[in-house]
Amino acid sequence: MTKGRYANIIVDISHEKVDKPFQYKIPEKLQGKLAEGMCVQIPFGMGNRLRKGYVVEITDQAQFPDEKQKLIAGIVNDSMQVEADLVRLAAWMKQTYGSTMIAALKTVLPVKQTIKHKEKRTILRRLTEEETRSLLGECIRKHQTAKARVLEELCREGALPYELVTGKLNVSPATLKSLQEQGVIAVERENYYRNPVKVDTNRESGKTLSPEQAKICSEVLADFDQQDRKTYLIHGITGSGKTEVYLALIEGMIQRGKQCIMLIPEIALTYQTLLRFYKRFGDRVSVMNSTLSAGEKYDQCERAKKGEIDVIIGPRSALFVPFPNLGMIVIDEEHEPSYKSETMPRYHARETAAYLAAQKHASLVLGSATPSLEAYYRAKEGRYELFTLDRRLTGGALAPVSVIDLRKELRSGNRSIFSRKLQELMEDRIRKKEQIMLFLNRRGYAGFVSCRSCGFVMKCPHCDVSLSQHMGGIMVCHYCGYETVQPKKCPSCASPYILGFKAGTQQIEQQLLKQFPDIRVLRMDADTTRTKDSYEKILTAFAQKEADVLVGTQMIVKGHDFPNVTLVGVLAADLSLNDSDYRAGERTFQLLTQAAGRAGRGAKPGEALIQTYRPEHYSIIRAAAQDYEAFYEEEILYRELGAYPPAAHMLAVLITAPDEERGGDLAGRVAAIARAEAEGGMEARVIGPAKASIGKINDIHRFVIYCKSSDYGRLTAIKDKIEQEGALMDLKDENIQFDFDPIDRY
Ligand code: ADP
Ligand code: ZN
Ligand code: ZN
Repeated sequence: MTKGRYANIIVDISHEKVDKPFQYKIPEKLQGKLAEGMCVQIPFGMGNRLRKGYVVEITDQAQFPDEKQKLIAGIVNDSMQVEADLVRLAAWMKQTYGSTMIAALKTVLPVKQTIKHKEKRTILRRLTEEETRSLLGECIRKHQTAKARVLEELCREGALPYELVTGKLNVSPATLKSLQEQGVIAVERENYYRNPVKVDTNRESGKTLSPEQAKICSEVLADFDQQDRKTYLIHGITGSGKTEVYLALIEGMIQRGKQCIMLIPEIALTYQTLLRFYKRFGDRVSVMNSTLSAGEKYDQCERAKKGEIDVIIGPRSALFVPFPNLGMIVIDEEHEPSYKSETMPRYHARETAAYLAAQKHASLVLGSATPSLEAYYRAKEGRYELFTLDRRLTGGALAPVSVIDLRKELRSGNRSIFSRKLQELMEDRIRKKEQIMLFLNRRGYAGFVSCRSCGFVMKCPHCDVSLSQHMGGIMVCHYCGYETVQPKKCPSCASPYILGFKAGTQQIEQQLLKQFPDIRVLRMDADTTRTKDSYEKILTAFAQKEADVLVGTQMIVKGHDFPNVTLVGVLAADLSLNDSDYRAGERTFQLLTQAAGRAGRGAKPGEALIQTYRPEHYSIIRAAAQDYEAFYEEEILYRELGAYPPAAHMLAVLITAPDEERGGDLAGRVAAIARAEAEGGMEARVIGPAKASIGKINDIHRFVIYCKSSDYGRLTAIKDKIEQEGALMDLKDENIQFDFDPIDRY
């Protein structure tokens, strides 16, 4: 416990105006009982209403004379203490990403509301079966129906879960109490922590590492033992044994008495992946994901604090599990966009992990088959140590990839969504009873209208997004509502083949069944994966060969290994290039590389086919060649020319307002503040304000200002200035948000 007479406290109210520490006096009875990060009750405001708050500092420095200091009312019971480390982390996030302190605290806090420990209660029968039966007869005669319901069940089962009896059997606790007093039943209580995944499985030790794998492990662990903490990037093709390396590293950490955080994108948190960790570490590992209740998350944090687990697996929020002795953070598929938070504070797990690792004196390991430009750039600069794994350990070679020009298909009279080559190969696989995956790169796709001859895409004149085809030859902008009639001829080349691209996954499924009536097709997209475990079910069914073809959006390129898949078709590779976003090329390359990597994972050789209207685009050429290095060289040049991340830093300031005029006005003022701040000192460029490309969502108008600088600190200075001056403005429904190095265009 920290010493001091005063506590500086952040009040649990989400408003910029109160987002600063307020000082309170610590009453006698709480002297020595408070620590940074604790949740307390404090009288706040004119009415002295009791509010919750978080202690961020304990000090002997009074800010006001003693008689003016209010007293802390009490400690919020059952609250989990935010470690002082986490308070510092929250302060760093606030400063680095722009947000209120309370929003930052709530992001790193284990749970928003604390819950009581769940107790497992079981009702046990204390009489013999015969005695119970005779008592049951008596209860029926006396019309004691509730008692009768319990006894009837107890004749069959010696023990019943308490919740079943009070819930489904609708027996009141009072009735149970009376049975207990009669000596008929006993209630057994067991305090237990919920482990969300129960896997009964035999433990398995690791594989003998290949020399390349062993080299990574020994170097990383040797650095660790020499107190040298670094960030490592493992660039390894899918199937090259990265996960096996993570497992070995984590094992090494456990042997050293350290704990590990293993980040995996939510979508890849499949049973198959988890099983590997459970087999290796048994119940020393636990999982955190978005389907867990607040209580379950709380339990995970408690278990971590008590040292009951050594490894937590989860998406980005698993970073905040409070391990007392953190040794390593691993981030698999570090390039995944889901590592960036979409709400304030818009933190990136990679950067936040680096900060946390430095604080906790832990190592950081990143892995990917297609590293983000950020990570590779830093590896090239020497800030990360780079390892490469470039062969598959299970034998299967990378599948050869060919590119099909869809414009040529049309010219030769094929108007199907399947090129002739794809049709040929599908026939062949169906005959051989091998499996096929068809992947629709659907990003930015909403039934858009394009020219089949030249690739021209119809766009909204106001929003810079493609228009969507609607009934009756109308095209609509989904972002601003702009409507126009679909042209008969391509505005660019006058070809009459300007058509709606109708190939949704459902249409593909129908086409397939028309062409191959006897095959079994599974479809995976937003429609078929609404329920909690449908994703898992579809993948499992396909793995068990319950279908010949799996058709889906980008979801299908992740996760499972399907050894029987020998053909992967990408139906329209360039759809993601239509996003007018500086990351479009990177995203396309990653998706195509992952998709191609799905073919030939087993003993049989595979093949991948990329259909595209833009075969000359470098993202497509490099993905087909599976040449990351060459892709990187071209992409980084483009980023350097445009001063885009990682070559420079970028701050997007998003202004939202229900009233368009007030919003535009505020955006103008904010841009002026940014420009004034950017002048002088180091170079920073301010672009805008402009209407965001998604100009209006739910009747809230959106404006955006972009600031670019090679110096991140310059951008945080601009952010600070906007925050300060913004707090003085009389903002009602208008809102200012910050996004550093954004991954999506506004
Ligand atoms: P990645 O994570 O890079 O996709 P994995 O670690 O999942 O690669 O490995 C791919 C396959 O190779 C898995 O089936 C795994 O069991 C196997 N594997 C990994 N390392 C070895 C090894 N050292 N010896 C034998 N098989 C291995
Ligand atoms: Zn529009
Ligand atoms: Zn055209």
